[in-house]
Order: sequence, then C-alpha cells, then structure tokens
Amino acid sequence: MNFQSLKYYSEQFSDSVLLTNTAGEHLFLSTEDFEMFSKNPAVLSDSIRSLLKSRFFLYDESNEKSFNHIYDIKYRTKHSYLENESLLLMVVPTISCNCSCVYCQVNSRKNNATENDMSLKTALSFCDFVFALPHKNIKIEFQGGEPSLRFDTIELIARRITHLNRRYHKFIEYVICTNLLNFSEHELKILKKYGIAISTSLDGSREVHNQNRPSVYYKSTYDTLLQNIELARKNKIFPSALVTTTALNLHRMREIIDTYIENHFESIFLRPLNNYGCAFKNQNVYYKLEDYIAAYKEAILYLIDRNLKDNINLREEMFSIILRKIFSPFNDGFVDMQNPCALGQMCMLVKQNGDIYPSDESRMISEMGNEHWKMGNVNNKNCLLTMKEKRSEILENGKLENYEECKDCVYSPFCDADPIKKWYIHNIAGEDYESYCGIRKELFQFVFEQIKTADEQKLNLFKRWANA
Ligand code: SF4
Ligand code: SF4
Repeated sequence: MNFQSLKYYSEQFSDSVLLTNTAGEHLFLSTEDFEMFSKNPAVLSDSIRSLLKSRFFLYDESNEKSFNHIYDIKYRTKHSYLENESLLLMVVPTISCNCSCVYCQVNSRKNNATENDMSLKTALSFCDFVFALPHKNIKIEFQGGEPSLRFDTIELIARRITHLNRRYHKFIEYVICTNLLNFSEHELKILKKYGIAISTSLDGSREVHNQNRPSVYYKSTYDTLLQNIELARKNKIFPSALVTTTALNLHRMREIIDTYIENHFESIFLRPLNNYGCAFKNQNVYYKLEDYIAAYKEAILYLIDRNLKDNINLREEMFSIILRKIFSPFNDGFVDMQNPCALGQMCMLVKQNGDIYPSDESRMISEMGNEHWKMGNVNNKNCLLTMKEKRSEILENGKLENYEECKDCVYSPFCDADPIKKWYIHNIAGEDYESYCGIRKELFQFVFEQIKTADEQKLNLFKRWANA
C-alpha cells in the first residue's frame, strides 16, 4: 500500500511531537513514531497508522478521491463564514462617554456635541444597510463611546429592524457593549423587549476597577456597575463581562477571578491591552507581553483548579475559543481570529457618521486620524461596491500562508491572519515586524500543553468550555 500525507506542521513538545494540519486536526506522537511517520509510514504499527488516518495526516493512495472529498467538507464547515453565513455588525449610536477609562481605545468624547451622535438619517440608512447585506445571521452590537447615552437611537434601530425583518426573515440578535452606569428599569425594559444582551467591563476589585475606569459622574463606577448588574439579573438579563489588563491589575489575576466568582459570573474574558487610542498615548498603563502571558497562565491554572476543586462554573473566553478551534469541526465564530481574515466579511463596524470599517481596530485607527481602512458610508448608495474593493485588499493580504514568519508554524491551522494589525504595526505603531505574533504562539503552546497533560476530569472540563 502506498501512503501519502497531507501537508502537516510539527513541533517538539518535551517527550513527544505535536502534529497539526490544515484539516484542523492535531495529534501528539512519540518522537520515535514521528520519525517513522516522516520517513516511512509503512513501518508504523497498525494502531498508530489508523490514528494518523483518522486525523487526516495519512491516506492510502487508492482512497485519494474520497479523502479529498471529506477534506473539502471539513474545510468548508470550518470556513462557513466565507459564504456570508454570519456577521457581527457593530454600530456606534454615539462616541460620547460618561467614563474616563485610562486605556480608552476609541478616544471617546467627554462633551455632548451633536456631531458625537448618530443622526436620524444615518440611523435609518443603517437599518436599510442591514437588509442590503447578503448575510443570513446578523448580530448587531451597539458600541460607543457609551451607547446607552443615546438610548433613543438604540430603540429606533431595534424597532425599525424588527419591522423590516418581517419581510426579510433574517436571524437577528442584539448586544449592547456598555459600562452599565446609565441604566434604570426603563432601559432594561427596552432591552428585554428586543432581546438585547449586555456585555460589560469589570476590571477586578473595587479599588482596581475604580482606578482603571473612573468617571466624574459616579463616585464609584464599581458600585454602580454591580448595582446595575443585579438590576439586570432581576429582569432576567444576564450580563457577560470582560477584563482589560493594565499595569494596575496585571499582577492581581487571582483577585480578579475571585471577584468574578463572588459575583456569580459564568465567563470571564481576560483581554490584553491594545496599543490604540488613549492606551497608545498613556504608556503608563503598559507592561511587557511576557509579563502578560505569565499572568494569564497563572490565571488559567488558578481557574482550572477552582473549577475542579470548588465545583464552580467559570470559564475564560480566550482559552475556550482556542479549545473550540482545536476540538470543534465547526467555525468557532470568533471574528478576530480567522484565516483567511474575516474582517470586512464576518465583521463590520458603522461609526456614528455612517462610515463603515472592517473591524473595531480599524475604527480606532480612524479615531487616531487615519482613514486607510474606511470601506464606505451607509448614506452612500454605492457603499456595497466600495466595500468590495476594501474587502479584496483585506483578503489579498489576509492569508497566513503568505506571512513569512507564519507559514511553517505548527499553530497556523488555528491562528489568524490580520492584515490590519500588520499594517498598523508597520505604519503607525512603529514596532518591528516580530511583534505581529505577539502573545499568540505562547498562548497556543500553553493550551496544547494543558491538553497534552490533562487527565480525564480536566479534559471533560476543557470539552465543556469548548462547547459553551
Ligand atoms: S473604554 Fe468605553 S466606557 Fe471607558 S471611556 Fe472608553 S468608551 Fe467610555
Ligand atoms: S501569528 Fe504566531 S502563532 Fe500565529 S501562525 Fe504566526 S507565528 Fe504562529
């Protein structure tokens, strides 16, 4: 029998070798078996050869046709976003904000000037734009500034879209990204009416949160936030939350996790700082990436321990997304981490003036005065055409296999191509090219190490997180 192997990647992991391939499969082999596999698969034991075949590392030449057919289905399932299945569509009702976070990445405005807000005309054009797009499943995310400061616009958009959708029958979901300071029963009633979920920020204990996220209008943003989380829960809305890591909370990961457990969250998203907006100007909030990754690993190990020993139920989102990439045959739905790049296809943002961008980061670049990534404007009837041109530029530069430092990386089947970040590093941040990978390699390595050494109980926990 003649055996062929699909293109694979490999890396030594202490006593074994990690193999990955473009079918999205992985396998740990002993160093000896790996030697045999790479030189002459015919001498491998039947059981190892079957394992390699089941994970698409090996096939019999006589079965090439069916192998290619199944491989094709697997690839298309993982990349369903390329067929306009789903879209995350962010919209900014206002760039004004009632908070002054030390790291604000969107340069929110502290005044109430009318140009900070989306006009009625633009809000209506946005609703038409939603139905001009080909996507079947659209998640509309209200972003800011602080979007709740223009709750009238949020209500208008939700009402109009619900009305128009009687004709189009798209699957539409809503979420509001809010600091949850400006909420009362009235706003919650509207959220409930349209099924709008809440995503908020909780950066740690009272002391840390108030320092990271101060406001001249609220004595303690932490206390107001927690009061409003309780109010939302009483109304059967269960906010999710994320942590932005700054120099202040970097070394307080256990305390942050304890705060989330005490406040009955089921997920936590630990997010490193992006070098945009205020964060770009306020370098005091920064830290070295290796310090972040060390803190992140400590946090995950602590979290795993608490889940297993104390029977709590809290997962970390980034760790879970990577697990999903590794274990699930389906697309993980995380727009920021796709290859080919999904920005502008699976993700778009419409700013308060109607300008369209492929991602939140490209809007942040625009707030820094550079319009390179603008795709069009919803008030312009030709916007679908101008968007197509920008999307082609993103796709052309958004394939990992064309990135010199990535093309042989063992993690590339699970990693993402981000031409916008590449462009930003080169043209604005002035960092060297090496910083493109950032924490990704260490992060993937850490997750695979955890999988490799997991016992059954831990593996069950990881599978639960991957499917959450
Ligand atoms: S991060 Fe959000 S809540 Fe904080 S200042 Fe910026 S827009 Fe406002
Ligand atoms: S970004 Fe880093 S981890 Fe991802 S494929 Fe490139 S080198 Fe590998």
